[in-house]
Amino acid sequence: MNTDRKARWAVRQSALPTVVRPCPDCSGTRHRPSGKIRVNASGKLLDVWLLLSCAACDRTSKVPVHERVHVSSLEPARRVAYETNDPAVVRELTMSASLAAKNGYRLDWTGTWELETRTPLYALDDPTPLTVLVGFELPAPVRVERLLMRGLGLSRTEIRRMAGDGRIRLPLALDAKAHQDFELTIHGPGSVEAAKHSKLLGAPTDLRAHLSHVGWHDTPRQLSRSATARA
Ligand SMILES: [Zn+2]
Repeated sequence: MNTDRKARWAVRQSALPTVVRPCPDCSGTRHRPSGKIRVNASGKLLDVWLLLSCAACDRTSKVPVHERVHVSSLEPARRVAYETNDPAVVRELTMSASLAAKNGYRLDWTGTWELETRTPLYALDDPTPLTVLVGFELPAPVRVERLLMRGLGLSRTEIRRMAGDGRIRLPLALDAKAHQDFELTIHGPGSVEAAKHSKLLGAPTDLRAHLSHVGWHDTPRQLSRSATARA
């Protein structure tokens, strides 16, 4: 398999998501974590809340994280993290989809990420396929098409054309939202045509290697194409 050319893209966190829910004091709905976690002990029972600040009026509100849980049911390190407002735990709770669902609020991920592309210099018309590993530092839902536009510096039209031509191969639809690591490959122009005709033209060894790569990753339509080419 031809995996000589590899690039890594990283979806890096630039901010925490905004918690969207009504403020009891004003008409605002946007809340930021205050950076604090409150722990109340009543005998052996603990209540833990994540504290939020309304972006409009600064009112503090609480999101229940644990309610009346027995002290022994929490890892001691976890309890210390709550008691010391550990920033990593504040971050984790603020980004938690399950906490949002449990408490009936929405997370707005706008402006929370930026794409870092550690791509070595390469040309998109290089015949060797380029494998791109996309890693997510935070579970921000990112539209695949937008990610590709940024990563490749191409317009929406160009991205759609390349995907339509089978030059960009993805495990997700272009209009899907990714929020976890995935891998894509970018093929040189004419690679699909080359796959189709390679048998007829007597493909060189490296192109045959490419062919099996095409067949392995591809959609049923293109699979049958390369199968035909090999038949
Ligand atoms: Zn408010």
